[in-house]
Amino acid sequence: MAKKPRWAAIAPEEIKKIEKNKVEVKCVFCKGTGKDPWDLLSKLSKCQVCHGKGKVEILGPVVTCNFCHGSGIQPYTTSRLHCLACGGLGVVTKITPSKTCPVCGGTGIYPRRPHPVACHNCHGQGIVAK
Ligand SMILES: [Zn+2]
Ligand SMILES: [Zn+2]
Ligand SMILES: [Zn+2]
Repeated sequence: MAKKPRWAAIAPEEIKKIEKNKVEVKCVFCKGTGKDPWDLLSKLSKCQVCHGKGKVEILGPVVTCNFCHGSGIQPYTTSRLHCLACGGLGVVTKITPSKTCPVCGGTGIYPRRPHPVACHNCHGQGIVAK
């Protein structure tokens, strides 16, 4: 089976509309298993993002998180943290209307040493509400 690139768009079947403005997405952090993907505490520990449910609810419409490119994992670091920009969901609620974030210039990244972090102004998305 071909491995999906990390930045692949969210498959439509992984998004379920549950309420008017709410969607349910498969938890990318644990890939829907509900288990801690790293076995950090024990093999039985629950996923810190979805708390064991394997899925999460978020206000829709959603777009792929710009900071982690949908992986749900905090980039630019080797620590096994969930992405702080999207909370590990891999998706964020779409901002409309939006404009380019003036702080990071649209990258979503705040170039802090040694590890870049998500821009505090746009929460890593590169855009802010107009
Ligand atoms: Zn999970
Ligand atoms: Zn993210
Ligand atoms: Zn920004």
